[in-house]
Amino acid sequence: MRLGRRPALLEETLGAGVALRGRLWCGDGTEHPDGRVVLDPVGAVVTFGPTPQVEVPFGCFEVVGRWVGPGLVDAHVHLAFGALDDFVTTGVVAVRDLGAPPVDAMTWRANAVPRVQVAGPLLTAPGGYPSTSWGRDGFAAFIDDPEQARRLVAGLAGQVDVVKLALEPRSGPVPAPAVCAAVVATAHEAGREVTCHALSVDMVERALDAGVDELAHTPVEPLPAELVSRIAAAGVRVVSTLHTFVAGGDGRAAIANAAALAAAGAPLRYGTDLGNAGIKAGADVRELELLAKKVGLGADAALRAAIEPIRAGATVGLVVLDADPRDDPAAWRHPRAVAVGGTLLLRP
Ligand SMILES: [Zn+2]
Repeated sequence: MRLGRRPALLEETLGAGVALRGRLWCGDGTEHPDGRVVLDPVGAVVTFGPTPQVEVPFGCFEVVGRWVGPGLVDAHVHLAFGALDDFVTTGVVAVRDLGAPPVDAMTWRANAVPRVQVAGPLLTAPGGYPSTSWGRDGFAAFIDDPEQARRLVAGLAGQVDVVKLALEPRSGPVPAPAVCAAVVATAHEAGREVTCHALSVDMVERALDAGVDELAHTPVEPLPAELVSRIAAAGVRVVSTLHTFVAGGDGRAAIANAAALAAAGAPLRYGTDLGNAGIKAGADVRELELLAKKVGLGADAALRAAIEPIRAGATVGLVVLDADPRDDPAAWRHPRAVAVGGTLLLRP
């Protein structure tokens, strides 16, 4: 295990892997009042469970704290507007950049602490959102007709983790339905999912018609019940981004949509849209509270929307916190330890 060097957290010398002990919340519905999880030198979970049943391997360093669990995964950020260190020092172990100039995206994609997935450029109509506003410096790629869209996505898919489609008629032209369908079909042929910026009823319908896998935001126009049911029935995930909508004035409708989607069984994912109003890089305590209290998921389900459960063999990043974050979400701001990708960061 490598030593971390982050401003707010201290490096520690480690022999082999690391053991984390405390109230162990596994993120799959199980927890152990006194539990332990052991990570190998590259950060993969070796074993976990009640402390008496999980030995600390010889030479393995142990961190003991109040609460141990998976770190946060932010499904919607724009790293052009924030520092990676600010995520990992607040317990965010993985982020997904949903719109960046390709050269920047390729650089971040190699990052290990935290892990980074990327979409590269937003695919939009020529002159469409966000190519004439915040994304004018290379954040957009134009798709014009189905054949050209196929070629572009086929070339892009091997370099990104997910494909991002932008349907924002308030800021210019949007891709036609046949172009959207070509994007999704080509991405799927290449083994990539498609996430879509669609905030209005019309654009959500266009996204679903094309077969997208995910909405990159909770829509902000009130959704009719049939459309909510259609999203849930299609198994389309919805990334929350509620805090920035609250900060920007669209919060009430977005929260109502999120509550209806959750009640219908659509999977919600925690995402902040770092780069937009009110959002700072790092764990977003307010987003978690909105999901728990305003959307009505409750604290446990809100946290489950923001993590990958602990599984043997998986390289989920883990944290040790000074309080159970379901009772005190502010515990994310100052983790005792963060272990991700073979690096252990410790608070002095
Ligand atoms: Zn965004």
